[in-house]
Amino acid sequence: MKKMDKKVFDVVVVGGGPAGYPAAIRAAQNGLSVACIDEWKNRDGSSAFGGTCLNAGCIPSKALLESTELYYRAASEFKVHGIGISDLAIDIDTMQSRKKKIVKQLTGGIEALFKSNGVTPFKGHGRLLPENHVEVTSADGQISVLIAKNVIIATGSIPIELPIARFDNQLIVDSWGALEFDSVPKTLGVIGAGVIGLELGSVWQRLGARVVMLEALDEFLPMVDGQIAKEARRFFKRQGLDIRLGSKVSGAKINGDAVTVTYEDVNGSNSLEVDKLIVCVGRKPFTNELFAPGVNVALDDKGFVEVDEHCSTSLPQVWAVGDVVRGPMLAHKGTEEGVMVADLIAGKVGEVNYDAIPSVIYTAPEISWVGKTESEVKETGRPYKVGTFSFSANGRAKGMEQTEGLVKLITDKSDDELLGVHIVGAMAGELIAEAVLAIEFSASGEDLQRICHAHPTLTEAIHEAALAADGRAIHAINR
Ligand code: FAD
Repeated sequence: MKKMDKKVFDVVVVGGGPAGYPAAIRAAQNGLSVACIDEWKNRDGSSAFGGTCLNAGCIPSKALLESTELYYRAASEFKVHGIGISDLAIDIDTMQSRKKKIVKQLTGGIEALFKSNGVTPFKGHGRLLPENHVEVTSADGQISVLIAKNVIIATGSIPIELPIARFDNQLIVDSWGALEFDSVPKTLGVIGAGVIGLELGSVWQRLGARVVMLEALDEFLPMVDGQIAKEARRFFKRQGLDIRLGSKVSGAKINGDAVTVTYEDVNGSNSLEVDKLIVCVGRKPFTNELFAPGVNVALDDKGFVEVDEHCSTSLPQVWAVGDVVRGPMLAHKGTEEGVMVADLIAGKVGEVNYDAIPSVIYTAPEISWVGKTESEVKETGRPYKVGTFSFSANGRAKGMEQTEGLVKLITDKSDDELLGVHIVGAMAGELIAEAVLAIEFSASGEDLQRICHAHPTLTEAIHEAALAADGRAIHAINR
């Protein structure tokens, strides 16, 4: 091991995922000297910035969801347009290479952005030492010590492993492993019918896998508005996703080329044989080997770094952003926090409006929402109005042959404040941007009613849902 010189930076970011790398770029844009340290290793041993999101999360999953949705639609929906395909086939190698190419372009792009903004990249493990010193150990054992005026912790999260279903990375895999299959499993078990489980289950189900999802909770997607979750479940059932709620997995055993999963439900003990098993039961904050003795950053009981609303930790000039702190584990939430902290360090204004963070599930149809669900509003005791509009009455959705789903909009009964928007339907992930903007600008339901929406577009369903909240929808029977 060789010790290197000490270098001084205004900001040292530990972690180069979607929370850390935008923080580093914004800090550099603010005229500060910045280093960003990341230790990510791909399965082929290569290193890359971009964290879970770019390497093993958002980006590769969306690439595969796009490919498989096209395949699924070609197989099941093209006929109605008069398009016939006689030899429809999917080449998994090509599909996976396309995914890899996109990931490589985007992760490579971060290095280019660092260069053009003057961020100094370090590839290796970062560890906080006392007095805001940060030690970097590279893969070849070289050690550098950075003296940081400010440290931003952006070390993200890792999948939770179940002791009863240990990953062997071949048959029992985490979400990353499920993005890497080189063939379509005939049968696929998924433990956890949450966001990631649904997306990954959909990818392989569309290509012909028989997918069984075992979910311990009795409620489907509890964080989603109840009406929307119910609709979505109906669509997924029709597609062939076998979602078994109230199913608590008690064991998973590898038997040769298969996995036997045992689980309990209201009917007693059951067992299921699958070719592959994905364990998607959530993620936990990652702070392993991050703090040297004497660096006492406060963590909560689940291991998240404790922060205030400005992402300031218990130590002076030490900040933490992204999945490693409280709040939804979403890339864009981490990005907003990283940018806020970089601005605050530079003495500028910075804040994150946690009430206006959109969530999207990239199934087909997609599910998206911002603000409060109907049951959350009900709990507050606030009187409210609900407007819904079905995509089956939307001209664009008809033309697209994607009429499944609806928009649901909730406003305050007395002052008409927009409280929540929930969508299940085609392009719901894109459509939600209008609702986020509306909530960010404290719009009322009437504001949305008075905004001109292009025709024919899916956005008209948001317009109509806003009108429906006051019984004034044009293309629906108002009650
Ligand atoms: P990460 O992305 O986890 O990055 C942390 C980085 O820090 C890593 O590169 C890690 O190597 C590095 N690191 C950790 N410790 C150290 C250390 N001591 N020294 C140096 N480096 C260190 N979110 C969305 O918003 N939209 C989606 O569509 C979406 N899809 C997803 C799909 C899947 C399959 C998964 C698994 C996640 C998905 N997510 C999605 C969640 C999203 O990936 C995370 O919320 C996001 O990556 C968190 O960003 P982060 O920067 O906080 O952490």
